[in-house]
Amino acid sequence: MSQRPTTDPERVLVLAPTRADAALTRTIITDAGLACHVETAPEPLARSLREGAGAILLTEEVVVDSEAQAVARVLESQPPWSEVPIILLIGAGADSAVAAQAMHLLGNVTILERPVRVTTLISALRTAIRARRRQYEVRNHLIELTHAEATLRAQSERLRDSDRRKDEFLATLAHELRNPLAPIRNALQIIHLAGNNGPTVEQARLMMERQIGQMVRLIDDLLDVSRISRGKLELRRERVELASVIKSAMDTAQPLISAAGHELTLSMTAQPIHVDADPVRLAQVFSNLLNNAAKYMERGGHIWLTVIRGEREVTVTVRDAGIGIPADALPTIFDMFTQVDRSLEKSQGGLGIGLTLVRQLVEMHGGNVEARSEGAGKGAEFVVHLPMASVVPLRSVADDHGEQCARAGACRILVADDNRDAAESMSSVLRLMGNEVRTVNDGVRAVEEAEAFCPDMLLLDIGMPRLNGYDAARRIRAERWGKSIVIVALTGWGQEEDKRRAAEAGFDRHFTKPVDPADLERLIAELQSRAQPGLPARGGRSSP
Ligand code: ADP
Repeated sequence: MSQRPTTDPERVLVLAPTRADAALTRTIITDAGLACHVETAPEPLARSLREGAGAILLTEEVVVDSEAQAVARVLESQPPWSEVPIILLIGAGADSAVAAQAMHLLGNVTILERPVRVTTLISALRTAIRARRRQYEVRNHLIELTHAEATLRAQSERLRDSDRRKDEFLATLAHELRNPLAPIRNALQIIHLAGNNGPTVEQARLMMERQIGQMVRLIDDLLDVSRISRGKLELRRERVELASVIKSAMDTAQPLISAAGHELTLSMTAQPIHVDADPVRLAQVFSNLLNNAAKYMERGGHIWLTVIRGEREVTVTVRDAGIGIPADALPTIFDMFTQVDRSLEKSQGGLGIGLTLVRQLVEMHGGNVEARSEGAGKGAEFVVHLPMASVVPLRSVADDHGEQCARAGACRILVADDNRDAAESMSSVLRLMGNEVRTVNDGVRAVEEAEAFCPDMLLLDIGMPRLNGYDAARRIRAERWGKSIVIVALTGWGQEEDKRRAAEAGFDRHFTKPVDPADLERLIAELQSRAQPGLPARGGRSSP
């Protein structure tokens, strides 16, 4: 009968002193259906044992010979989980000195007296192999445990790493949000002290506007990243010319580029390139990349913005001659909260989420982005690939919007906000626009005043004492007089879920604080146009 493959882990290893013995023993074992592998010296036995063995069969010659120590060493070299069963055939009797020495030397040994019946030998071997199988099971569990432990260790390493980055991010966030507060506070003091000095007050006002703009941008980025991560950000796609998107991005980044004395070179074909994209979000991608190029470069540097039209896709590259990115930082540069050198970043401003946002937005547009750099000091290059638009144009969202630039004014507006400063400042802005405005500071008063004042529009905060904004809106909508009021949520909660809840409660619009006065103006102009027949009604709910 032929020998089974030598790697069979249940094979019987036979150490036979002579070839004749070896042949006989192999025949007996293989006839019984067991795999068998014969060695005639202890050294190769060690390797065979490592390759796998269910049991080892020895004869007493091996124990009394000088080979005994060598066999003992082979057995000692086994890993901790392994104690291979040994069947020893001896003629001297189980209680002989030879048997005692064998037990001392070999450990897990079963002694069979010669002459031994074939059935006894085979049954002893089968029992030994079964016991050995358990050892292999233990070994397999150990291997699994080791793998699981390695995976756990890697996971906990990753968690620790992300925890550390989150902590660093929170510290940076606090720092970045605190930064604009100092000039804003100073500007307030300047306005207070400047009295009637118009130019000084105007300068202070501009400073505050810039700083608030910076804070709003940071918070918007944060909210965008969080919305995208939870799949809550929707693109308003339309057929747009890439040139207009690029121009808008350049306009946004220009102040930072100019302030740093950089030069920007645009290279783009005159031939129009169309993409199906959300123009605002796509412009955000390029302005983020341009801002970074401006930030991470010594004063007076150069930025190249290149647009190359391919067959199906367009490639937009933003390259700079700045500080560059070390090779080991490139693979994680788009990860959340990643900043290559925080000590440097302190003066640059940023949260380490801009590139995360870039990648997420590009991917939402069906494209991809890659970062390249020859290393520190060698400049950086960000390459955005975007699919070009197919031939059939999408309906333009801009058509729906219909630009309305009429000056807003002369509406009756009720402002409800428990933050008195927020309510008063909003009222002042609306009054200065020429509207008639009243202010309340809780939900119950909002309902009462809505009935008494009959406003065209109610700006309603959501989190308020006595009655929250949702319930106040519901109560107003339940009244006959409340159906036609345009109710606008004005809140710090700008998630899609919040907007959905607001719509369910009867709100027409949802503005996230701080609201841009231009948006308010547009809304009021819209209200007025609705009142004029012939103009299209807009918004979630149409007014009667
Ligand atoms: P932020 O600029 O707010 O730190 P980003 O996500 O935009 O965050 O960028 C992450 C990091 O990538 C930056 O902190 C900076 O270390 C590195 N980086 C981004 N753009 C460039 C660039 N053009 N040149 C060199 N490093 C850059």
